[in-house]
Amino acid sequence: MVIESRFSVGIPNCSIQKWIFGSCSDPLPDRKAWIDADNPTTRYLTLSTGRLLAKRIAVGLREHGVQPGDRVLVLTGNSVVFPAIILGIWMTGGIFTAANPSYVARELAYQLKDSGARVMIAASTSWDVAVQAAEMVAMEQGNMFVLDDTIPGLDETGRVTVAGTQHWTKLVASTGKGEAFVWDEPVDSKTATCTLNYSSGTTGLPKGVEITHYNHVANGQGSVSVSKLHPDYVEQTRRGAALCFLPMFHAFSQGYFVTIFPHEGIPVYVMSQFDLVKMLRHIEKFRITKTFAVPPILVGMSKHPLTKKTDLSSLELFGSGAAPLGRETQQAVNKLLPDSHIGMLKQGWGMSELTCCAMAWDPRATTCEGVGELMPGGKARILDLETGREILEPGVRGELYVSAPTLMRRYWRNPEATAQAITMDASGTRWLRTGDIAYVSPRYESGAIFYIVDRVKELIKVRGFQVSPTELDAVLLENQHVLDAAVVGAMKDGEEVPRAYVVRKPGSDVLTETEVEAWVRERVAPYKQLRGGVVFVDAIPKNPVRVPMTPWKTSEVNNRKTGKILRKVLAER
Ligand code: AMP
Repeated sequence: MVIESRFSVGIPNCSIQKWIFGSCSDPLPDRKAWIDADNPTTRYLTLSTGRLLAKRIAVGLREHGVQPGDRVLVLTGNSVVFPAIILGIWMTGGIFTAANPSYVARELAYQLKDSGARVMIAASTSWDVAVQAAEMVAMEQGNMFVLDDTIPGLDETGRVTVAGTQHWTKLVASTGKGEAFVWDEPVDSKTATCTLNYSSGTTGLPKGVEITHYNHVANGQGSVSVSKLHPDYVEQTRRGAALCFLPMFHAFSQGYFVTIFPHEGIPVYVMSQFDLVKMLRHIEKFRITKTFAVPPILVGMSKHPLTKKTDLSSLELFGSGAAPLGRETQQAVNKLLPDSHIGMLKQGWGMSELTCCAMAWDPRATTCEGVGELMPGGKARILDLETGREILEPGVRGELYVSAPTLMRRYWRNPEATAQAITMDASGTRWLRTGDIAYVSPRYESGAIFYIVDRVKELIKVRGFQVSPTELDAVLLENQHVLDAAVVGAMKDGEEVPRAYVVRKPGSDVLTETEVEAWVRERVAPYKQLRGGVVFVDAIPKNPVRVPMTPWKTSEVNNRKTGKILRKVLAER
């Protein structure tokens, strides 16, 4: 049974920047687009100054040799200039890729190498890591730019930084050049890749998810067309104010805070990092109407004493995504929200491979169980986990496959992983294997409502961030005392965290749990640490069939002449 979205929407063949700004130079409403939540009256970009800054960056990137199709890696937390940098890369015809600023050098080096980034723009706070990673992949220092809180046009530009580094404003051309710049519209937006978000998909190491201009526009157009179903849409937009604390290096945040809200003219208050107390204060102070969070934030919110004392009555769209939201947490947060179904906390479901959000809610819906319905143009099938046969009845669980106009073009330079993830049916429809277990609600009065209940894929989600077990296996296998290892997700204090199962080499009994944890801690970002502990075992359960070698896997992983790890068996322990 193929379930189709109730909604359809026309998707223009244009760039995402055209979709946001309408044109390259026409006057824009004098509305603030991105506002520093800590300094709202002095530090902001309007739609117009944001577009101009992006155009200046586009010219600057060209002057530094960035050609259409070149990758530019950005390594920073949130700021009001981050969206302008992303837009500048898109406008110059480049491909934007962002890394998590908590990465250590080897993680960053992996992404630099895999994406083949020509230029890196890195926050001053991550500069040491950026330099180390650049050395590991022999990236030229001349192509690295250090980012601080300067806002060109607002602050003095061209600040002197540490000797030997180039300040990022060197990438910002003069105002005159920016004003004169006209971006080239893609001939075919469906094949015009402009973003590489990294995701491990259903298995293996992180891969570059190729998102095209068409994907971004489809994501935005679909979401806005659903928002417009609300009878007060115009008024809601007029009084709209969004709060962004989700990191803009992730697809979830890019979708809403870099593209959709600016397109709608809704100002985005940007928090440089998440802070629960500040989040609550900002919601009250700025009368925030729209925001999105991930489940651990909502758990914190439901328990924090300040939440009850905070006026949350302005919230009209409050969404959760990136990981499963517990029913108790949802109910607890809903009790704290205004007594109206409009402000109800609702879950959506999405994947980097589907640009951002593929299931969400009709704004008129009066219930909030499940993750909503398919966004415009989306289709879904649920297949039996054992037989692979299509499940026809509502309420029966199986693996979710999705087709949508937001479905990525492919994995970057990885046809094998692409072929594993996307299949084409006889009608030419491309289906993404999601690795999520879902069922569809038997209630069809409005549309088919989906429930995401589990995962079959090898992904661990820590605070909404992806952790690839394969990556951590490889880190463990580098230890001279480790014969074999497998990492799985385990639940600790209501949160999913990585746990390692380790087989010591004969004679290596000296290796302790603490040493294994320390080994991993030094080699990966803090959120990937083995907070679920280390368990020593005699053998890692494996499927006897050998997995085909894949060129993109690290040599450590390729060298394991073994079958597929039965992570489910370990997880069930
Ligand atoms: P990412 O590509 O980082 O956005 O991760 C996508 C994955 O996050 C999905 O395939 C799911 O496993 C998980 N996910 C996203 N939203 C939800 C949700 N509402 N409930 C359960 N899992 C979710």
